Amino acid sequence: MSPDTGFHALEDGEAQIGCGPLIQSYESTPRSLRMQVFDRVRAAGLISRADLAKDLGVSPASVTSVVSELIETGMVHEVATPKREGESNRGRPPVALGVRPEAGYVAGLKLSDHRHAAIITDFAGNTIAEAEIRHGVLQQETEMVIRDVVRLLDDALGQAGLTQTDLSAIGLGLPGVVDSATGQVMWSPLMREQGIALGPTLEELLGRPVRVDNDANLVTLAELWFGAGRARSDFAVVTIEHGVGMGVVINHRLYRGAMGLGLEIGHTKVQLDGALCRCGQRGCLEAYVADYALVREATTALNWGNRGVQSQHILLESLYDHAKAGNQSARAIFKRAGRYLALGLANIVNLFDPALILLSGERMRYDYLYAEEVLAAMRDMTLETNRPAPVVEIRAWGDQVWARGAAALALDTATEIALRPEAV
Ligand SMILES: [Zn+2]
Repeated sequence: MSPDTGFHALEDGEAQIGCGPLIQSYESTPRSLRMQVFDRVRAAGLISRADLAKDLGVSPASVTSVVSELIETGMVHEVATPKREGESNRGRPPVALGVRPEAGYVAGLKLSDHRHAAIITDFAGNTIAEAEIRHGVLQQETEMVIRDVVRLLDDALGQAGLTQTDLSAIGLGLPGVVDSATGQVMWSPLMREQGIALGPTLEELLGRPVRVDNDANLVTLAELWFGAGRARSDFAVVTIEHGVGMGVVINHRLYRGAMGLGLEIGHTKVQLDGALCRCGQRGCLEAYVADYALVREATTALNWGNRGVQSQHILLESLYDHAKAGNQSARAIFKRAGRYLALGLANIVNLFDPALILLSGERMRYDYLYAEEVLAAMRDMTLETNRPAPVVEIRAWGDQVWARGAAALALDTATEIALRPEAV
């Protein structure tokens, strides 16, 4: 065994011990039957015990026993369903199972460069309240960010008629590089300091479990839990906001990479020695497609040298207005960004073969970014296989959807805590 690499080179005649993947973490093993039953009930909305057993491929007896446990702990309840046509009126009314909404509440929060949004949902995923605060500050002190989070959370809770102690978990998303396993924000355009243990700090302050993730993962979770991704096993989401982000679902699960830091599509290189990116490197996709890249181009092409004090948001809107009004320089800037986006999308198709790519974010109102010629350029750069290209859909969604993804993250966390073997 080499101490440097851990690689074990077999000597001549030495037999390998065992074969097959060595799964060490319970996380990668199948979910317990209790989890599977609960997940299935929540996904179905209402489902009978018989259908549950059929869907999960287990005996009705084992479903019945797990369901009894879940009913006893108040996670699931029985709901009388109306009789279907042709069903006899005799016998007991048909009963379906559903998640008991008041089994718990969670909060989802999304921080962004101009607006923070929050949502409160019950355990069945129904929205109870929404709140938002506007601000316009990048690179805030950590203390200020935490103060905003508490203010936003209290606002949303007030509207829901709940208090912090009613929350089973809190999900929080923000742009940047986030290690979701530890709640560390390695880097975010919203925070001045780097490597901040935001999750643990908030957990201590609020006394509730807090999960932190990057905003692209949240919008992917929103699609997986509430949107077009529910019925897809494999899909990708590309977000164009302050930066360019990406989330990938593989086999109905969010893919997080070995250290939770993967899928930084915005920093994959599309040009050697290309445009300077805010990460400090050159030629990143983001340096051609993100807001700051468009504003940087506009500053030169449209002679905006004297508009330095205006916010990026206003400058971008102004660029879009110019393009709509027929300004050729403004149009050329969007077109160029669209070509680079096509290149990034083609790379995603060649790497992941997703059935669906969702382009999401407030900026997707800028139709030049997803014009037919952009999608055609994407198809031109993917491998020719005579099979249809993946479906590309546009989501010009606002911050509340991202907050919903944060609520999904919180629901996932709350469910895992509630269904731990020792908790039931
Ligand atoms: Zn970069």
